[in-house]
Amino acid sequence: MFELNQYPLTYKKSALQPYISETTMDFHYEKHLATYIDNLNKAIKGTDFINLSLKQIIIKSSHSKETRYTFNNAAQVFNHNFFFNCMKIGVPQNLPKKLFNSFDSLDDFKSQFKAVANTIFGSGWVWLVTEAREYKIVKTANADTPIAHNQTPLLCLDLWEHAYYLDYQNKRGEFIDTFLNHLINWEFVESCL
Ligand code: MN
Repeated sequence: MFELNQYPLTYKKSALQPYISETTMDFHYEKHLATYIDNLNKAIKGTDFINLSLKQIIIKSSHSKETRYTFNNAAQVFNHNFFFNCMKIGVPQNLPKKLFNSFDSLDDFKSQFKAVANTIFGSGWVWLVTEAREYKIVKTANADTPIAHNQTPLLCLDLWEHAYYLDYQNKRGEFIDTFLNHLINWEFVESCL
């Protein structure tokens, strides 16, 4: 069984203000993430998934349509925990050195990330991942996650409406810019490299 306190926020819910409100963080963590965890627990009860780790469940459930509901909820638990860890205010905005092999500059990284973000129609995620020693920006639809595709995530942005609608309403582009300019925890990204 999975529990919310296995995935603690590493900062106060008010810590990302004024860019993300305490109300948004409260709903996102206490309601959205908690519900994915509840649904995952119900889905795996009495199945072979019960003794597996979250990552093992994601990979194993990704292979079959019959386990799509389990996959969606497990992937959303992973994605949300990763996303919350990706954010922090006050970290110097520097592109980690290793990424200069794949991006010309921090601005180049931001513009590539935004270009991919702008191609998401409906709910999804934008990711910086590493695959075969190459760094790249990819998107996933709905609950899908890079770890189901042999990619290692380094950074992600939640672009489901619940991630920004209370604070930004329909201005999704403003939310993307704010994330890129103020919220990326580059220390966390570096720790994943
Ligand atoms: Mn979300």
